[in-house]
Amino acid sequence: MLNFELQNPTKILFGKGQIATIAKEIPANARVLMTYGGGSIKTNGVYEQVIEALKGHEVVEFSGIEPNPTYETLMKAVEIIRTEKLDYVLAVGGGSVIDGTKFIVAAVDFEGEPWDILAKSIRTTKAMPFGTVLTLPATGSEMNSGAVVTRVATQEKLSMGGPGLFPKFSVLDPEVIKSIPERQLRNGIVDAYTHVLEQYMTYPANAWLQDRFAESILQTLIEVAPKILADPSNYEAAANFMWSCTMALNGLIQKGVPTDWATHMIGHELTALYNIDHAMTLAIIFPNLYRNRFDNKKEKLAQYGERVWNITEGTTEEKAHAAIERTVAWLHELGVKTRLSEYTSDYAHTGEFIEKRFTERGWKGLGERRDITPEVVKEIVEMSY
Ligand code: NAP
Ligand code: FE
Repeated sequence: MLNFELQNPTKILFGKGQIATIAKEIPANARVLMTYGGGSIKTNGVYEQVIEALKGHEVVEFSGIEPNPTYETLMKAVEIIRTEKLDYVLAVGGGSVIDGTKFIVAAVDFEGEPWDILAKSIRTTKAMPFGTVLTLPATGSEMNSGAVVTRVATQEKLSMGGPGLFPKFSVLDPEVIKSIPERQLRNGIVDAYTHVLEQYMTYPANAWLQDRFAESILQTLIEVAPKILADPSNYEAAANFMWSCTMALNGLIQKGVPTDWATHMIGHELTALYNIDHAMTLAIIFPNLYRNRFDNKKEKLAQYGERVWNITEGTTEEKAHAAIERTVAWLHELGVKTRLSEYTSDYAHTGEFIEKRFTERGWKGLGERRDITPEVVKEIVEMSY
């Protein structure tokens, strides 16, 4: 097991009715910016619950944070906080609203051009305080310190992070899942599943408990997927789905183990270029990344095949291959398309383009062994056509 530090300060308020309790988490005299997206909260009752809970606080609203939140939109919220002198932010939404809010709270007091936080990978150690009401289980952003922001002008999608970006609190009420469309439920399942894979499918590090944590989240997601897709108002399925997504990326399972994250880095390019949903870009990339880096990952692939999919026959290599194909078959069962050409007809030069971008950014080696060079990225992307 590798050395690690673990500190996660986010308070979780889980369960039915918890939205009503948020006022006690926000300082009584705080002037609050409430951030949200395109309006789903106005039709599913979440907006009314939040406004009711915030009675007594002065609240300014900022709506219109789009899926894959953009720098251009978020900077408008930064301006409002600066001119209105607000002192707390409450994000009400999915990963996009929460990620966008993380950029906002980091940018407000940033000296210089806030895009540099992303372009120059500047870690955020201090930021404005914020809490969240999660409406879409998927990203884990409600209990981690990372965010991903897009710049429309340059078609870039980059990550940021740092200990200043943990929410003070997050409300996880599984009842909000009822109104989520099937497409977004599917996205949530696949995003959370891939988060676990990124922290698990590396090389064995003798982190036995971490492996079991990761496998148990994968198994729970497999169990919950057909139930939640069939009926998002199934409370027990919704509760288990929501908690699995949070646990998949709240820092716990990444401790003591090597992590990969190359699938996310490549996937972000596909969203920036073609506006493909984040989770779908992961489904396009990870099977091909595992085929390409097979020798690096075959022990873990075989262990995953045995423990998660009950693949017990064959050599390590055979079990590892079968594990990749079983996972792809599962994605297809969920209705997920796994080839880039199924999402865009404009893919012919994608591999070359991303290779060039990664080279320009100096991203010489991704993955747990830092051996996914820009040339290898091109191979993986071309395998996904
Ligand atoms: P999202 O982009 O936040 O939301 C997708 C759509 O779902 C939106 O149109 C939203 O509508 C709708 N929606 C949300 N909650 C709903 C509800 N309860 N009922 C009905 N509709 C609802 O989706 P996401 O998958 O959570 O976030 C994706 C973003 O997170 C990507 O940019 C991705 O790169 C990033 N990400 C971040 C992390 C991290 O650790 N920080 C990890 C992985 C991915 P409204 O706009 O109307 O609300
Ligand atoms: Fe993700």
